[in-house]
Amino acid sequence: MARSVLSGIPVSSGIAIGKAYFMNRRLAGALPRQSIAAELVGEEMDRLAQAITAAAQELSDVRAKVPVELRENALIIDTHITILRDPKLLAAAQRFIAEMHINAEWALIKAVKDLETAFAAIGDPYIRERIQDVRLVADRVQAKLLGIDPGTKAIEGRIILLAFDLAPADTVGLQVDKIMALSTRQGGKTSHTGILARSLQIPAIVGVDGLEEKVEDGDFLVVDALGGKVLVDPTEEELDHYASLKYQFESYQKSIIKNCYLPGETIDGYRVQVHANIELFEEVSQVLDHGGEGIGLYRTEYSYMNRPELPNEEELVEEYMDLASIMVPRKVVFRTLDLGADKFLSPEGALDERNPAMGLRSIRFCLQNPEMFRIQMRAILRAAVVGNVSMMYPMISGLRELRQANRLLWQCKRELAAEGAAFNGDIPVGIMIELPSAVMTAELLAQEVDFFSIGTNDLIQYSLGIDRTNRLVSYLYQPLHPAVLRSIKHVVDAAHQAGIEVSLCGEVASDPFCVPILLGMQIDSLSMNPQAIPGIKRIIRQTTMAECKNLLREVLGCRTVSRINRLVRDSIFQRFPEELTFFSSLIESDEAPTPHA
Ligand code: PEP
Ligand code: MG
Repeated sequence: MARSVLSGIPVSSGIAIGKAYFMNRRLAGALPRQSIAAELVGEEMDRLAQAITAAAQELSDVRAKVPVELRENALIIDTHITILRDPKLLAAAQRFIAEMHINAEWALIKAVKDLETAFAAIGDPYIRERIQDVRLVADRVQAKLLGIDPGTKAIEGRIILLAFDLAPADTVGLQVDKIMALSTRQGGKTSHTGILARSLQIPAIVGVDGLEEKVEDGDFLVVDALGGKVLVDPTEEELDHYASLKYQFESYQKSIIKNCYLPGETIDGYRVQVHANIELFEEVSQVLDHGGEGIGLYRTEYSYMNRPELPNEEELVEEYMDLASIMVPRKVVFRTLDLGADKFLSPEGALDERNPAMGLRSIRFCLQNPEMFRIQMRAILRAAVVGNVSMMYPMISGLRELRQANRLLWQCKRELAAEGAAFNGDIPVGIMIELPSAVMTAELLAQEVDFFSIGTNDLIQYSLGIDRTNRLVSYLYQPLHPAVLRSIKHVVDAAHQAGIEVSLCGEVASDPFCVPILLGMQIDSLSMNPQAIPGIKRIIRQTTMAECKNLLREVLGCRTVSRINRLVRDSIFQRFPEELTFFSSLIESDEAPTPHA
C-alpha cells in the first residue's frame, strides 16, 4: 500500500512498529447493488447458497477450536451456526434474487431488513435482541460474498490490530498477547477502546481518518500514540526516529515505576489517595504492580457483556468476593451497572436507540430493570463481608433517582436479613457526579450519600454537549474548559461542606495537565487506569499544595480554555519537562480541524 500518514486521537500512550491486522472491516459501504440478467439469476442464487455454506463451515471450524474455558463463546457460535443452517434465511434472500433480479449481497440485506421488522414486533426483549445475532451472521455471509476475511483468521506473530470500531463486547476473547497496538476508525478520547488499550498497556489511536481505505492487512505501520499518527509504509528515517522515541518513552516509564509504591503526597504533606479504575478482575495484578492504593472504580458491566444470559447472583458474589478479598485491606468501589450509551451487552446493541448517551442507560436502565439491579446489589452486599467494599450509582440526575435506588438497596438488605444470608449492610454508598443536574444539586445530594466520585468522561460530554465517541467533535472535548473546572470545584466544595469525601475517576484524573489543578481544589482521591498511577504519583510527590493552589487561582481567573491551556502548558513545562514531551497531545487546540485536513 502507498506510503501515507493518517491522523487520529491518541488514547493510550506509546509507540508500536509492526504489521497491520484488520478485524471488523466495515462492510456496509462496500456492498454493491447490481441488477442481474435473467439468465444469471440461478447462478446468483447458487452463489448465495455457497456463501452461506462456507460461512457455516468457517464457524464450525472456529467452534471446534474454542477452549473449554470459553464455553460461553462456543454457545454463541452454536447459535450462529443454527441461524445459518436455517433454510428460511436463504429462501427469503433467494426469493428477492429471483423476483427482483438483484445481486446476492442486496438480496441478503433485504432479507435481514424483513427479519428486523418481524423481530421488532416481538414482545420479549431477549428474543427481540436476537436480531443482533442475525445481523452478525449476515455480515459473515456478506464477507464471504465479497471475499473479505471477517477477522476470525488466526493471528500469527504479533500484530497491530485495526478495526472500524471495537465495542467492549468485541474485545472479549481477543488474543491480547499478540496485540502490540490498537487503532480504530471510530471513537473519541474516552471511548472504551482507549480504556481497554490502557489496561492492556498497549498504544492506541482512535478516530483515524482513512484507516480502512489506506491500510491493507499486512502493511508495515508505525503507531505513534504520543503524537496521534499512523504511518503506513514508513521511510528508513522515520523508522529510526520512532525506534529511538520508543526507547526514550519506555525508559521514562521504567524510571517512574521505581517509586510507584510511595504514597501520593505533596512535598508539603497533602495526602491524596491514588486509586485504579478497572474493568476486569485480571487487571488486579496491574493495579498492585503500579502502586494502586485501592480500586476507585470497578466497571462491573464488563462481566455482563457478550454472553447468552445475564450472570446469576452466585456467580457475581464469587467474582466480587475474589476481587474484594485480593485487595484487602485496600478499598474496592463497585460501580453498579452502567450499561447503555457506549457499553452494550452486545456489539450491535447501539442500533436500538437513536441517541443512546441520552437514552435508557446506566441507573435509568437499572431502575427500569429492578430484578437485574437487585441481583447485583445483593451480590455486592454479600461480597462485602470479606473486604473493604463501597458501592456507587452511576449517572444520578438528582435526589429522586438516588432515593429510588436506595429504596431498592434497602429492600435487598431486608430480604438478605430475612433469608439469614451473610452480608454487610453498612457499606458506604456514593454516587457518580456525571450530569450537570447533579453538579447543580450537589449540596442536596451530599446530604444523602457517603461520598461523591466525579465522572469527568461523562460530565464533560454532557456539560459541553459533545458525544464522547464522536471523533468529529473530539477537538471540543476540553477538560480545562472553564465550565468543567467550575463544575468540579463546585462539587468538591459541596462535598467538603457536607463532610463527605470526593474522588475523581474520569480520564482527567490521569492527565498530568489537570492533576495539579485538582490538587489545588483539594480533591481527596484520584482514580485512573493502573498504568497512569506511577506518573501521576510522581507529579503529586514533586509538587506543593501551595503551588497547586496558586495555579488553580490563576486558572479560575481565565476566561477562555485557550488561555487556560497555555497557562497550564507553561507551568507543566517548567516543572515537568518530560511529561510535556510525552503527553503534550493531551492538550489540544480548541479550534475545529479544517475539513478533510
Ligand atoms: C466517567 O464518566 O468519567 C466514568 C468514569 O465512567 P465511564 O467512563 O465508565 O462512563
Ligand atoms: Mg461515566
